[in-house]
Amino acid sequence: MKIVIIGGVAGGASAAARARRLSESAEIVLLEKGGFVSFANCGLPYHVGGEIVERNALLLQTPESLHARFNLDVRVRHEALSIDPQGQTVEVKRHEDGSTYRESYDQLVLSMGANPLIPPIEGRGRDGVFSLRDLEDMDRIIAWTSQVALKGTPSRAIIVGAGFIGLEMAEQLHRLGMKVTVVEAADQVLPPLDWEMARLVEAELQDNDVQVVLSEFVSRIADSPDAAVGNVVTQSGKTFPADLIILSVGVRPNSAIAATAGIDVGSTGGIQVDEHLHTNCQNIWAVGDVIETPHPILGGSMMIPLGGPANRQGRIVADNIFGRSVVYRGTLGTAIVRVFNVVAAVTGASTKALERTDQPNQSVFLHPGSHAGYYPGAQTIAMKLTFDPDNGRVLGLQAVGGDGVDKRVDVVATAIAAGMTVDDLVELELCYAPPFGSAKDPVNLAGMVAQNVLRGLVQNADPTALPLGDQFYYLDVRSSQERAKGALPMSAHIPLDELRGRQNELPKDKTLVVYCQSGQRSYNACRLLSQNGFDCLNLSGAYKTWLLTRDRQSLPV
Ligand code: FAD
Repeated sequence: MKIVIIGGVAGGASAAARARRLSESAEIVLLEKGGFVSFANCGLPYHVGGEIVERNALLLQTPESLHARFNLDVRVRHEALSIDPQGQTVEVKRHEDGSTYRESYDQLVLSMGANPLIPPIEGRGRDGVFSLRDLEDMDRIIAWTSQVALKGTPSRAIIVGAGFIGLEMAEQLHRLGMKVTVVEAADQVLPPLDWEMARLVEAELQDNDVQVVLSEFVSRIADSPDAAVGNVVTQSGKTFPADLIILSVGVRPNSAIAATAGIDVGSTGGIQVDEHLHTNCQNIWAVGDVIETPHPILGGSMMIPLGGPANRQGRIVADNIFGRSVVYRGTLGTAIVRVFNVVAAVTGASTKALERTDQPNQSVFLHPGSHAGYYPGAQTIAMKLTFDPDNGRVLGLQAVGGDGVDKRVDVVATAIAAGMTVDDLVELELCYAPPFGSAKDPVNLAGMVAQNVLRGLVQNADPTALPLGDQFYYLDVRSSQERAKGALPMSAHIPLDELRGRQNELPKDKTLVVYCQSGQRSYNACRLLSQNGFDCLNLSGAYKTWLLTRDRQSLPV
């Protein structure tokens, strides 16, 4: 058996190593057009900023180490030019001397990854305009930053695109002392999150002196005598002087040679594969950023470029080549990013994605502590749990905070993969001691809050679309000290502990929209009031969530 793999990083190297573990006798050829294999793309921003000090730390394997350990025939600077599925050969170009040759295969694995999307910005070819995909890009960015730094004044970096990589680069360039501006065409940073959750990340960027410019489409880079690269100009005419520009507006599957060979490519540009990651051409498999996969919740095929799926898919393909018949279950899009002191993570489907696919959904917001409040150092986690209102199935979680965000999102990712409902989240037994969590873990709490809504114990008001009109009466049940720091306009105030004795002050002919700081006391208030004949809505996520949304909606009157 001879296996040829095109692309020697995440998916390709995983497939190769697993194939060797399954067969000592297979011939395994790894073709990589770049100069490196199995390097840590995900670490690139952190070496630019100097957090990962040693460049070598990014080189997880070399052709020599892969040969020594796995007996792989690794050929760097060997580019696959074309595929002949009938003849079962690949045409390969040696970059060293430009010569070409044909390599035959019994099984072919495509793991060519994705290329950065380069938006049609006039002037994008100038020196000092970069995207970041591989070590060579990283080296060029580092060389340029050192060069502009020599000029003395703090350099100005413009990041075009506020996705995960864009924000990691914003943080790292700020770390180098640059004045950073992020320009994003959408009306929020981190598009996989819903806008109200992304607000917390936007605020953290601003608190760290990173300028965030939303809803602005970069159209050109104009000459400027005062900037090393030029002025970044948006369609609306705003200009930003730039000594360095990073384009990070997304990626596109590197599927051209597959499409030319007759391998089916979908509307995302990704190679289409079946559940075993096999393409429409016999003995040709594909993995990683170059494929599109089904989304377990949203359905349809999507291109979700993440390291975890690429690595696992590589392993699955090797299993399938050797007849082990493993099915890939789809990509949920579980992802995480650190932006200064804030961690944002997401799994499953956001509200906006569910609305695009017309799927019923409901969400609850909560702000639990990362661990027991009485133990020092607890940090608030803003959570948005999304579920199916018909059957309680968990559809997604977005969480923004610090400590413990990763743990909660990973638990919910597992729950989604297992098809669990909000009732199941309530029942999960998760580890607890004061430094690590709470007796009711934030995941349990999220389940409880959603369960209360589903079971009709309380009705929620959506903080992203406040109910407005004469029939609504807003009631603040926080303490006077909390209220003194800010409140929803026109809301009445009765602290929760006085509510039982002061109910007669409230109108029975209106719907009460009750809020506290994070939603728990207002839930208690709603239970009390609804059992006494009042019509109540609990403002989900309460004052904390409203603060994130208030400038996008009319105020209650
Ligand atoms: P790649 O790892 O990109 O490998 C594809 C390889 O194929 C490339 O080396 C390319 O040179 C080679 N190739 C292409 N065409 C040919 C050809 N014709 N012949 C020979 N070789 C070819 N994901 C996360 O989950 N978490 C993160 O924190 C994260 N951070 C990231 C940060 C950065 C800066 C980048 C760029 C990516 C990050 N990712 C992250 C995404 C993750 O790295 C990718 O999803 C993953 O590497 C995809 O693996 P792959 O094998 O499909 O493609």
